[in-house]
Amino acid sequence: VQLGVYIHFPFCLRRCGYCDFASCASEAAAIPHTRYADAVLRELDARATAFAAHELRSVYFGGGTPSLWAPAEVARVLAAVRASLGAAAELEVTLEANPGTLAAGACAVLREAGVNRMSLGVQSLDEAALRLLGRIHSAKQARAAVAQARREGGVRLSCDLIFGLPGQSLAHHLGQLDELCALGPEHVSAYALSLAADAPLRERSRAAGLAPAPEELVAEMMVAGRERLARAGFPQYEVSSYAPRPARSRHNALVWAGHPYLGLGASAHSMLPLGRANLRSANPPLARYLDAPIVLPEADGDAAQATVVGSSVELVAEPSSRFEQMFLALRTVDGVDRAAYAARFGADPLAHFRDPLEELAAQELVTLDADRIAPTARGILYADELALRLLA
Ligand code: SF4
Repeated sequence: VQLGVYIHFPFCLRRCGYCDFASCASEAAAIPHTRYADAVLRELDARATAFAAHELRSVYFGGGTPSLWAPAEVARVLAAVRASLGAAAELEVTLEANPGTLAAGACAVLREAGVNRMSLGVQSLDEAALRLLGRIHSAKQARAAVAQARREGGVRLSCDLIFGLPGQSLAHHLGQLDELCALGPEHVSAYALSLAADAPLRERSRAAGLAPAPEELVAEMMVAGRERLARAGFPQYEVSSYAPRPARSRHNALVWAGHPYLGLGASAHSMLPLGRANLRSANPPLARYLDAPIVLPEADGDAAQATVVGSSVELVAEPSSRFEQMFLALRTVDGVDRAAYAARFGADPLAHFRDPLEELAAQELVTLDADRIAPTARGILYADELALRLLA
C-alpha cells in the first residue's frame, strides 16, 4: 500500500487576511528551527512503526510557511523520514514556498536535500490584490521566485492562485490566469476565496469599498477559468487542481484515493485505513506540540499507535469511511475506482449509494461507467452538493 507523509511547519512572518490554516506569525529570528525539527523527529521515531509496512511515495512539507524553515533542518527531517520509512526510487518531495521568503541559494540547497517539487503561493500577480490579501510579497517577487526556482532548483513547479476576490471582475481573473500560465509552471492550483466570519480581509475590503464577489460571478470564474487553463495545457483533474496527468500532485492523489498518510508536526492530521474503518488523528497545536511527550500504545493491535499527548484520535466506522471515500473521489475527474472500492468495502458503490447516484446520473452530474463513477464537467462544479446528496 502506498503512503504519503505530510510535515506541517506552522510559522509565517505575518498572517494573511484570509488565512484559516494552522499557522502563527513569528519574527524570522524567533523561529525555533532546530527545536521544531527535533520535535518532528521525536514524533517520527515513535510513530513510524505503524506505517512501516507501506511504500513511501510522497513527502509534503506544508504550512504555515515551510520555506522559512532552515534548509538544513528540512534536509535533516527528510533524511530521517527516508531512513525510517524507506522510499520509492522516484519519491515526490514537495515544499510549499512563499515567494517573499526565498533567500538566494535556498532552492539549490533544498534540491540537494531531495525536494523535487515546489508549490509557490503566488496567489495573485496584481500588486493591489496582494496588498488586499495581506501577502508579504509583491508580484515582482513572485515572478522572481519562479525564475529562482528554475535557475537554482530544477524542481517541478506548482503555482497557487486565489480568485473571487472582493471587487474582482471575470476579465481580471482570466487575465491573472494568463499571466500565471505565462510563467510556465507544471501545475496550477486555483482556489475560490473563502472567508471565515472573522477573517480580517472582510473588514479590509469593506473599508476599501469593495463588495464580496457574488456567488454567480465566482461560478462563472470557475467555468471560464477552467476553459482558459485547459487551453493553456492545464486540464482540470480536481476541483481546484489543473495539470497534465504526469504533473498531477502525487500527495493529493494519495489522499483522494484513500491511501494512508502520516502527518507530523503541530496540528498535522494522519489517516490509517484499518479494514473498512479509518483511524484518524490530529496533533495538538504548536503551543502544546513542541514539548509534548509521546505516549506509546498500551496494547498490541492495529489501532494501537503511539500518539503525541494532546492529539485527538477517532476511529471512523465503516459507513462514514465509505462516505469519506466517495466524497474525496467525487472531487476528482477520475472519480471512484469501482473495483478498488469493492475490494475494500465488500460491495460496489452502487450497492451502498444506489438512489442518490442514479438520481445524480439522471441529472447528468455523474457518469456511471463500468469501471468508474465520476463527476461530469458540470457535476464537479457542485462537488460539495454531490457529497451532501450521498449523505442524505
Ligand atoms: S502564508 Fe499561508 S499559512 Fe501563512 S498566513 Fe498566509 S495563507 Fe496562512
